[in-house]
Amino acid sequence: MGLFEKLESVAAARKGLEELGIDPFHVVNEEILSPTEARINGRKVLLAGTNNYLGLTFHPECIETACQALRSEGTGTTGSRMANGTYAGHNALERELAAFFGCSEAIVFSTGFVANLGVISALTGPGDVILIDGDCHASIYDGCRMSGADILRFRHNNPADLDKRLRRLGDRAQNALIIVEGIYSMLGDQAPLAEIVRIKEQYGALLMVDEAHSLGVLGQRGRGLAEAEGCLDKVDFIVGTFSKSLGTIGGFCVSNHPELDLVRYASRSYIFTASPSPATIASVRSALALLEAGTHLRDKLWDNARRLYSGLKQQGFELGPQPGPVVAVYTESSEQTLRCWAALLEQGIYVNLVLPPAAPDGKTLLRCSVSAAHTSEQIDRLLQAFSALPQTTTRTASL
Ligand code: PMP
Repeated sequence: MGLFEKLESVAAARKGLEELGIDPFHVVNEEILSPTEARINGRKVLLAGTNNYLGLTFHPECIETACQALRSEGTGTTGSRMANGTYAGHNALERELAAFFGCSEAIVFSTGFVANLGVISALTGPGDVILIDGDCHASIYDGCRMSGADILRFRHNNPADLDKRLRRLGDRAQNALIIVEGIYSMLGDQAPLAEIVRIKEQYGALLMVDEAHSLGVLGQRGRGLAEAEGCLDKVDFIVGTFSKSLGTIGGFCVSNHPELDLVRYASRSYIFTASPSPATIASVRSALALLEAGTHLRDKLWDNARRLYSGLKQQGFELGPQPGPVVAVYTESSEQTLRCWAALLEQGIYVNLVLPPAAPDGKTLLRCSVSAAHTSEQIDRLLQAFSALPQTTTRTASL
């Protein structure tokens, strides 16, 4: 097969979109008006697909500290953490993350994606076993593949299936790494973490939780699902991202295993990529301090999430299993999803379009993400836009 032949299926899919007159993959935010509004195609649009869960992207403190860092330390580090790219700010952020999670170790990476690649591939190798929830993010799958370990997928949020697979492993289960997410990115459901912790302890396995979508969202202090479930001290590794609640870019891993520090020396995605810029690190540090300072942003986020979830439910839409910052609306087919997505944009609403393979089990979704920065009126506008969509079978028969 010629190199370019592999792209023929992509070309065919793109042609299909052209025929529908819809181009969802080239949406340009021509002007960013606020954390919840942008100008798209010359029109003011309400953003409901951003992952800006706490709405911190325009917070004055984050902007001010980023500007100061930009002026005093320059635009970029131009090097990897391992070489010239570690500044005092990177180390300070690692100390702050460790303290926030009550852990002894922390590593800051350039993105959440490369944090997963680096940590998984450094911890595991050929001969090891990794058990991952079937709905895990692409970066977790890629990290597993890079490691060369044996990969076993267990059924999504199904502890009994995890248990069965661990049992079959015999002695190998003691050294296995289990990987789950706090809140799953597409359906917005939470892992049954207390049960997973019980199973991992029973077999003596290790547990890694990706809290990308739950940091700042769950737990008394916003530390994620492990905090909410009271099992922070039982999780071996927490990974996460700065690109959602913290409103910037970057990733991290924290742990109480002193060996995490050695991961730096074994992680290609830590060694061979440039470190986050000083401005990025400064705004992450401010955002983390804001997250720690109180619960009002989290409370507002949850008010909005419940308002949207119950409103859509009342309209008869089939939704992901539980309310949260990610509210997934099931659709029937790719074509219907595209048409609804375009109709929402036409009404001045941006949500995420999710087509296979992004959603689990070949599903198609309109994925809404909620922010603490949304006003109740904006949530109501969103609900109104959904109610104006053509009545389709995505709404339950009772309506
Ligand atoms: N893990 C999960 C569960 C995610 O959803 C994402 C991003 N969507 C990542 C990791 C990667 O994060 P980043 O954007 O920082 O690369």
